[in-house]
Amino acid sequence: MLQLMWFRTDLRVTDNSALSAAMQAGPTVAVFLLSPAQWQQHDDAACKVDFWLRNLAELSQELKRLNVPLLVREADEWGAAPKVLGKLAQELNATAVHVNEEYGVNESRRDQAVSSAMDKLGINLHSHLDRLLFKPGSVLTRTGNYFKVYSQFRGVCYQRLHTALPKLVALPKAQNELKIAADPIPENIAGFDTPSQHLLVAWPAGEQAARERLQRFADEWIEDYQDNRDFPARPGTSQLSAYLAAGVVSPRQCLHAALNANGGEFESGNQGAVTWVNELLWREFYTHILVGYPHVSMGRAFRPETEALPWRNSSKDLQAWQEGRTGIPIIDAAMRQLLETGWMHNRLRMVVAMYLTKNLLIDWREGERFFMRHLIDGDLAANNGGWQWSASTGTDSVPYFRIFNPISQSQRFDPDGRFIRQWLPELAALSDKAIHDPHAGSKGQASLFGGGVDYPKPIVDLRASRQRALDAFKNLPPAS
Ligand code: FAD
Repeated sequence: MLQLMWFRTDLRVTDNSALSAAMQAGPTVAVFLLSPAQWQQHDDAACKVDFWLRNLAELSQELKRLNVPLLVREADEWGAAPKVLGKLAQELNATAVHVNEEYGVNESRRDQAVSSAMDKLGINLHSHLDRLLFKPGSVLTRTGNYFKVYSQFRGVCYQRLHTALPKLVALPKAQNELKIAADPIPENIAGFDTPSQHLLVAWPAGEQAARERLQRFADEWIEDYQDNRDFPARPGTSQLSAYLAAGVVSPRQCLHAALNANGGEFESGNQGAVTWVNELLWREFYTHILVGYPHVSMGRAFRPETEALPWRNSSKDLQAWQEGRTGIPIIDAAMRQLLETGWMHNRLRMVVAMYLTKNLLIDWREGERFFMRHLIDGDLAANNGGWQWSASTGTDSVPYFRIFNPISQSQRFDPDGRFIRQWLPELAALSDKAIHDPHAGSKGQASLFGGGVDYPKPIVDLRASRQRALDAFKNLPPAS
């Protein structure tokens, strides 16, 4: 009755639905598939792949304590997964395979194919809900459709949480030792660069590190989350996204930590905890959108009429944005944060995304891809949702006429320029006022600072480019 636990983006032993079910059903062997060609196709960032590998090494140690060997097999593209897993299941004489559900289109197709292959071998594939609090398809409108409006979706989630709070899954007891050795975990994969030391320190691997981060956030910061979350220089947010994306921590663990910090409440009480649970529900919402409206993950806008937008094809401007050379300090600082740490603060993700899609009028798909290639927390649903929200092409997205002015955003959310100074040290000597817009009033001088410090002038005029975006949206055909 050997069980095979196939790990994917659920790299932990605590509160792991599939692992727990597998170990209850019988002696368990674990496997992880290395799929570099597939990861390349998905634009998975090198730092994200490195994070998976580092977490796999930690997971292998945790599993060892449970006497579960972790095997590693290669399925370069997911098309090979049925064959590779079928062969392994037969070698092991496994009777069942357990997985935690993943929701992308390619992930679903892969799992369907593996399920059919296992069927032919007389092996059951058991899928478990784990990545989300609510199974996609279980939170629907009265007419049985997926929600398009977040607040309505959240209302139903709240009702569900009031009636049945998702429970944490107990850590399985160690099983008897099996005569199967775990495989070594590769330290790197060809085609994915090893990230900088700085990044490795910023994102320690392992579920213990993730739980400590969650606990610290719940103890020290969640209470003030509502007040601090928009200020990138403050330690206001949990920085758990990479751990949630790789499944090193679960949304149930996050929810319970928030409830514990707020006397068991998620809809009232401390506003910090309430707002944080709200963010966890945005994560759910975008994944439900991905499943309910899969065209969004195939490079299509949620709102089809926005496909007619006259996006500009300017590789020069795109490159300046990507490299943090737009001449708008908050944008450039944010892009440098992304390039150096694999992460960007949520407020700044919105600001840089809106700048790219509105002021530069460059297609949101360019930004989505670039983010995916650099984010350690890259998540198809959240990234696509965030980009389409900012570009006003998505569901429940920002109205097209509410275009953030990046300089006002900078003045409001980084008032003393602390964040800008951290990432653009060349501007450190400027005053708190001048740092947001160093060339304001410089009347075309090449360099403001006399001392040889060069900082580019804005590549577009904010007012004129705002008007260009408004006109582009106004001229769209009406939604059908
Ligand atoms: P916290 O504020 O502590 O929030 C807790 C958790 O809630 C996050 O870790 C995340 O899992 C979830 N969450 C928070 N905000 C959102 C949101 N708006 N949408 C969905 N989930 C959310 N998030 C990703 O995890 N991966 C991405 O690839 C991603 N790309 C984005 C792209 C754009 C253009 C935008 C505007 C947002 C994107 N987000 C993405 C959402 C959000 O910016 C990050 O989740 C957040 O910054 C992560 O930091 P944190 O863990 O400190 O978040």
